[in-house]
Amino acid sequence: MRILVVSTLCAISISGPVCANDDIAKLVGAMLGETPIISDLEYLSDEIGGRVTGSPPNLAAVAWALQTFEQAQVSATRESFEMPMQWQELAVSARITGDVAFQAVAIAKPFSTSADELQAPLVDAGLGSAENFARLGDRAKGAWVLIETPVLDDQVGLHGLFAEYDAAAASAALALDAGVAGIVTMSSRQNNLLYRLPLLPAKNRLPLLLMGREHAMRAQRLLRGGKSLTLTATIEIDSGYAYQSANVIGEIRGSSRPQEIVLFGAHLDSHDLGTGALDNGANAVMMIDIARQIVRLGLKPERTIRFVLWNGEEQGLVGSWRYAQQHSDELDQHILAASFDIGTGKIMGFFTGGMDGLGSMVDEYLQPVAGLGPFEQVNIPLVGTDNFDFMMEGIPNLIAMQADANYASNYHAASDTFDKVDQQQLKLNSAIAAAVVWGFANAQDRLPRYTREQLEELINSTDLEHQMRNFGVWEAWAAGDRGLKK
Ligand SMILES: [Zn+2]
Repeated sequence: MRILVVSTLCAISISGPVCANDDIAKLVGAMLGETPIISDLEYLSDEIGGRVTGSPPNLAAVAWALQTFEQAQVSATRESFEMPMQWQELAVSARITGDVAFQAVAIAKPFSTSADELQAPLVDAGLGSAENFARLGDRAKGAWVLIETPVLDDQVGLHGLFAEYDAAAASAALALDAGVAGIVTMSSRQNNLLYRLPLLPAKNRLPLLLMGREHAMRAQRLLRGGKSLTLTATIEIDSGYAYQSANVIGEIRGSSRPQEIVLFGAHLDSHDLGTGALDNGANAVMMIDIARQIVRLGLKPERTIRFVLWNGEEQGLVGSWRYAQQHSDELDQHILAASFDIGTGKIMGFFTGGMDGLGSMVDEYLQPVAGLGPFEQVNIPLVGTDNFDFMMEGIPNLIAMQADANYASNYHAASDTFDKVDQQQLKLNSAIAAAVVWGFANAQDRLPRYTREQLEELINSTDLEHQMRNFGVWEAWAAGDRGLKK
């Protein structure tokens, strides 16, 4: 789509004019015009690179974000918090021997334990179902179990990813019960592409490998043909200690209701195989750019807007959890918490967290950018990004619902790099997001915070508990460590 900015008041796309009151039209026009959003993303991806929380590039990204907000005259702070557990892969090797020998490409799955030349039979555990483990019986004990995955389907998009998380959690529990030596998961992406799919952060007690798809399929065919194989793997991990990290918060103070806060966030950290361009550099620079344009235009929101670049998201949504703890006394004044975390696919609307009344507000605030739609709000709770702790605190929360585009196929993978970014769509998304920011920052109405009873009703009426268990966050909620207290 070609975008033509005809004045500072109105922007026109081929699908229609983007016009409303002066402020919103100026802001949307500015987002669609020349801004440094793409060069910011190129710098964050190519020069800083993969930003695993706890790594030197992550620290560099925090310093860069702070400086970039400040250069844009946006008041910014760095809020430190403690990360409970360091986990970084140092080195991995996987050698198959026996009737056939070859070196397999593999990495450690996040939160894998270490292994030192761990040698054990490799056995075929099919898709890792209960039936598969029952059929293996005692042969699983003390063995490396090879678990097949279907090829991740881009078209299924997020459902493909959620299904992969589901299957990984279920098979890991069965493998642990069976007393395996370790799990070898087949990569769901072709061409031996590797990626980091996290599993139950603090709970895991097994060595977990992800093996290149073609190498894992070769091993599986050999095993199914009756060959006997042994896997010897070394997994070196730097792990086991707490450390300091930080969120970066850019704030534009409200003019008439400064105590009321609308929070828009995107996580700054990433995994390390690629450079975190889609996940989630693109949306992090989008937050900075919206703040930059509001200040540059001299716009005065009624409420305070916080643009938060989260840290520790990939290790269990830690930065947003810590924020909710550190700001517990002002959570009642948080009107909204929105998350952007699905790459650069077109924003098609928002997930509204199962919260009644939120969808119609978003519908209204998207009106000025209707030409960039159509938009639709989907009222379901989703676990997997930084809206989570706000949702469980009962605060109205959003996740931008984006077309998968190339998100799933590059998810947490070596291929998540700047060249995958849809630059034009990122610009359009920034205009859409800016309209929603402006809507919530100036609206007269606000929704009440959900009560504990309403949250429990939400859990009972949806698959929220299942999602929380898969992401390893259920127990903290059940124990009262996360979310609204009774
Ligand atoms: Zn992400």
